[in-house]
Amino acid sequence: MKDLFLNGTILISFIALVNQFIRDLDFSPASNIKLRLLGGVITGILGCILMIFSVEVMPGVIVDFRNIAIILASIFGGSVTSILAGLIIGAFRLLWFGVSESSMMAFLVVLIMGIGCPLITYKVRSKKIKCLYLTMFNVLISSIAFIVLVQDHMILLQLLLSYNIGCLIITFILCLFINNLATSNRLFKKYKNESSIDFLTGLYNVRQFDKTYNDITSRIIENDERLSLLFIDIDYFKKINDTFGHTEGDVILKEFGKLLLESCRDFDIISRIGGEEFSVLLLDCHPQQARKIAERIRSSVEKHAFSISNGKAVSITVSIGIATYPDTTINFNDLIKESDKALYEAKQAGRNKVVFADVLNE
Ligand code: GH3
Ligand code: MG
Ligand code: MG
Repeated sequence: MKDLFLNGTILISFIALVNQFIRDLDFSPASNIKLRLLGGVITGILGCILMIFSVEVMPGVIVDFRNIAIILASIFGGSVTSILAGLIIGAFRLLWFGVSESSMMAFLVVLIMGIGCPLITYKVRSKKIKCLYLTMFNVLISSIAFIVLVQDHMILLQLLLSYNIGCLIITFILCLFINNLATSNRLFKKYKNESSIDFLTGLYNVRQFDKTYNDITSRIIENDERLSLLFIDIDYFKKINDTFGHTEGDVILKEFGKLLLESCRDFDIISRIGGEEFSVLLLDCHPQQARKIAERIRSSVEKHAFSISNGKAVSITVSIGIATYPDTTINFNDLIKESDKALYEAKQAGRNKVVFADVLNE
């Protein structure tokens, strides 16, 4: 029991450790095949580690919680994952411990587990019920294997009692632990997402804009690429709020975000950097093309009828300032300043305008 308990702690520590690296991945029977295969490899490795630290009950007969690794594979990856885990564990049993009657039996057991677990729980949706069924299945299959392999009645009785009780306890603890991990993984993802995404428009927020800007600048210098930056500000937005209310203003900002996404290229980085202020980082984009994209944005906003709750349509316009590295400045620190200055000039020129920062040597 003591040694089996240690085997259980290895199982739980492995899951806690691996979770650090895969917390962003969504393992489920509906995931893509690559992810399900990865799940099979991870749980297969887990089974092998558990076998290395197994308890030797009598010469050649070892006991550990490798079958729980297959149960996990079945719950979190379905048939492909659990069969792969079963094959890896079975092959390791034969290679590492040598071919014998008990290793052949062990191979058969993990194969039956690998194929049987997803079959038994084929129609079950709840992870908890799946876990319950599969634990019973494991107890049944392992007990049959022990009865076939162990002739000494005393050892057999001890083995059946300690393994099956150990299995029930470890699976119960594991259920609680994995539930807890799933909750913290979900919260981690949510907070990670919220730290980079603007909640209203779904575009990047100002923090993510700064991060991306700093990240890409060195790459752009290294690869001798261009970078154009658009600063966009909605004209007289205060008036919109004053006339229709702040909530309707939010509706317009949301729709404006969608319009921006439609007007830019897939790989452009669009952020909401202030209340009604937006930026677009146009990667590898020369001045003429940046001007074209900015003009496209300006004109589509001007033409668009923004619908608000009472069914009315509202029109807005935007002013846009553009600067391009290295055409308007060879200093990245000045690119933001230049776009902002161009935007100010667009406002001064009467709004609903696109202004390009002064090009060097012009
Ligand atoms: P300008 O053409 O000079 O840019 O005029 P403006 O009215 O757009 O500029 P100003 O800076 O005076 O006002 C910006 C307004 O944007 C004021 C504020 O009420 C509104 N605003 C800022 N953030 C939000 C937001 O999250 N939701 C809503 N509805 N309005 C916002
Ligand atoms: Mg404004
Ligand atoms: Mg503003």
